[in-house]
Parts: sequence; C-alpha cells; structure tokens
Amino acid sequence: MIRWCAYCQSFLGESRPYDNPAFTHGICEPCGTKLERGESLKADTEPVRALFRRIITSAKLGDESTCADVLVEARALGLRNDSILVGMLQPALYQAGLDWQGARMSVAAEHRFTGWCEHTFGLLAQVRRRAAPIDMLILQTPGNVHTVGPRFVAVALEARGMSVEAVGAVLRFDDMVGLVRKLEPRIVGFSCALPGTVPVAMELIARLRAALGPELPNQYVVSGYAFRHDAAAQPRVSPGVEVMYDLESFAAAA
Ligand SMILES: [Zn+2]
Repeated sequence: MIRWCAYCQSFLGESRPYDNPAFTHGICEPCGTKLERGESLKADTEPVRALFRRIITSAKLGDESTCADVLVEARALGLRNDSILVGMLQPALYQAGLDWQGARMSVAAEHRFTGWCEHTFGLLAQVRRRAAPIDMLILQTPGNVHTVGPRFVAVALEARGMSVEAVGAVLRFDDMVGLVRKLEPRIVGFSCALPGTVPVAMELIARLRAALGPELPNQYVVSGYAFRHDAAAQPRVSPGVEVMYDLESFAAAA
C-alpha cells in the first residue's frame, strides 16, 4: 500500500501488503501536531488520487508530450521528487506489471506504459557523479528486464541524504569488482525483479565476497519485486545477506 497524508498530500511511505499498489491515507507528523494544537485542517484525499489517475491514463496512451505537464501538476500539489517517484510512478508501474501478468495488458501496451514512466523519470532524475566513498551501490542482476526500480530507489534515498549510485545495465563481473573498488560503497545491493534472479544475485555476492575480501563493502543487500509478494513464499537468501523490503529498511540500514 502507498501511504499519503490526507491533509497536506505528502508521501508517507509504503506499508504491507507490498504487492497491493493501492493508495491509503494517513496523517503526517506536522499535520498531526497542527491538529493537536486545534488548528483547522481540511482532509482532502482527492488531489493525489486524481493525479495518479492522470498518470495512469497518460502512461496508457504513451504520449510523452504529457510527461512534463504531469510533473508541473505534481509540483503544484507540492510533491517532491521522491514522492512522485515512489508514491506515483512506482505504483503505476507495479499496477501495469500486475495487469500484464494477469493478461489484462498486452506486451506492447506494457512497453508503452513503461516507456512513458521512464521518460517522466528521466525528466526528474539529475545525472550526478558521486565521489568515493558512497553509502550504497545498487547493481543490476542478470535476468532483470526492468531497470527503473534501482534508479527509483537511488533518487528516493538521495532525497533522504544518502549517497547512492544505481547502475541500470547489467555489468560484467570484472566491471562490478572495479566499480566497487572505485566507489567504495558501504553497502552493495542487487535488484531482483523476478524470484528466479535471486539465486543469480546470491552467486554474484559470493563471488564478490571472494574477490573483494572482507573489508569492503561491509554489507550486502537485495531488494525488488521478487521479495514483495506477501502471499508467495519468500525467495531464500544466503546467510549475511539482508532483504530490503521498502525504503524504510534502506534508510534504517544507512
Ligand atoms: Zn500532512
């Protein structure tokens, strides 16, 4: 579930069940304090729902000339980059993934939808190079088709003050080793969209541990949709590898 403040429309975070991208409304701390002080606040859950509907409609049409307009609308609501990414684009993509899985959306329609979200994301994300040492390096697991998830996480965590580098492409093993040596991340994460990619990530982590030795990085994590299906059995991970279920777990690991 995607949680928003019903009063100021700020994005609060995600909550279980993670495999349900529906919106739910709560109250943020500043609004809670205002209510306690007896200040008048008006709950209105409609603006974010309306914006989300607009995103879904625009993405289905795949008209990339609408991406900038949607962002202008989001900014007018006071939404920050990480709120737009994690609170809007991520559940939209997730919903599209569910529709595709359930054969309610064709492959072509899903590509159009994803392309629209990627374009919007590209307008939001700024290219920045981080100097070593960084907090986290997120690597792509071979077999992953969608590359947007790790970049979402990177932007959202950067908004929370972490230095994160996310690599969209699948790297050769030697290049992974080289990048870890260059960026000196405290945490190395692998993104696993499908359960079948989890054993691949486990093998890569074992090889990285052997190649890099114990000093760096000091933590390996995995994340992604493979771990977000509450109903399904959780994929097994190796000892010492942590699963990050949502942004809060990433922030806690930092
Ligand atoms: Zn609020």
